[in-house]
Amino acid sequence: MPAGGCAETFQPSLDVEGERYALPVGNVFRCLSAHWVLLKSFPLEPERTPKEDKLSVLVIGGAGYIGSHAAHALNRKGYEVIIYDNLSTGHVSLADGLELIVGDISDTAKLARLLRRVDSVMHFAAHAYVGESVSNPRKYFQNNFISGLSLLNSVLDSKVRKFIFSSTCAVYGNPARIPITEETPRLPVNPYGASKLAFEYALEAYDRAYGLRFVSFRYFNASGADEGGQIGEIHDPETHLIPGAFEAIHGERGALEIYGDDYPTSDGTCVRDYIHVNDLAEAHVLGLEHLNGGKSAELNLGTGKGHSVREVISTVERISGREVPKRVSPRRPGDPAELVADPTRAEKLLNWRATRSLEDIVSTAWKWSQNKRRATSTN
Ligand code: UDP
Repeated sequence: MPAGGCAETFQPSLDVEGERYALPVGNVFRCLSAHWVLLKSFPLEPERTPKEDKLSVLVIGGAGYIGSHAAHALNRKGYEVIIYDNLSTGHVSLADGLELIVGDISDTAKLARLLRRVDSVMHFAAHAYVGESVSNPRKYFQNNFISGLSLLNSVLDSKVRKFIFSSTCAVYGNPARIPITEETPRLPVNPYGASKLAFEYALEAYDRAYGLRFVSFRYFNASGADEGGQIGEIHDPETHLIPGAFEAIHGERGALEIYGDDYPTSDGTCVRDYIHVNDLAEAHVLGLEHLNGGKSAELNLGTGKGHSVREVISTVERISGREVPKRVSPRRPGDPAELVADPTRAEKLLNWRATRSLEDIVSTAWKWSQNKRRATSTN
């Protein structure tokens, strides 16, 4: 059964040639009934938003880490959310409680049908491993740019004119000045950053030529998990620092490697701007609201404060009460010494601010990882 069908939600529904249809609520047959009986018994209606005055958002890649937090934040704010995800790296569990439609961003026919149901689009679906982008740039340009452009053209062919894009501080490469403002030249140093920049160029041109309004959010280090403990980061392989430290604590990998301690920083390890994923998610909701009449914008999303790798590890040790097995390794290719945002533009334009600290990031991520481990061990 495709994800988002009867097995995952309580809304009786039926998938016909990839399109999902709602069945009347209260239908005694519910999901376990044979579909052909239902087909004969009820006239099919394309699924509608229950309240027609609710604004609907198509969240592409909403079963992934950041996309799922944004989808749940939208839902909490009363938006109607439709998640669209090909589940290549997404997880059905992260979309729990929301409508999920499985599909690819290059499937123009399927998207055309869905776009008729929404007012705006948030696009999170992308490959995002810097190292992999260097060894397999084809994959990155193909998905992040070529398929992304196909999605953008699908949007352009619909009535939707509000678009939120998940960009990255990797578009800046190795900036000469810290903190990084949006005026910093965009000079990516890896194919991941280049593929995101190419998409930003397309957005800028589509805005000028076709009036497609967008907000491109350049994330710094997204981290942490929803405070409820039900959704959080799941990557395979896990390359990020904080979940990597948890894996080392639990003996699921060897010692955590500290990639270089000879950088020109206070303790020699790299400095990054870690921003809680729910601070990011809340900015997305505000970005969408800004587009009700506001102009397109490119905005850094960070806290404005940097933390070194060693500082992050000490915070993990303090919050978990466990020592992180660790050792110093050579630098990781492509890692700049320091990346810290100047988030002033986003703060002013959206009346937004990142409110969660590194402690909040680590404690929510730790809670999520413990819940995930418990769920895995009882299954
Ligand atoms: N890092 C590390 N060991 C790891 C993973 C990451 O020392 O196992 C460092 C990495 O070099 C960078 C910082 O931690 O300076 C954050 O890395 P992460 O991969 O979490 O995010 P990125 O900055 O690459 O987006």
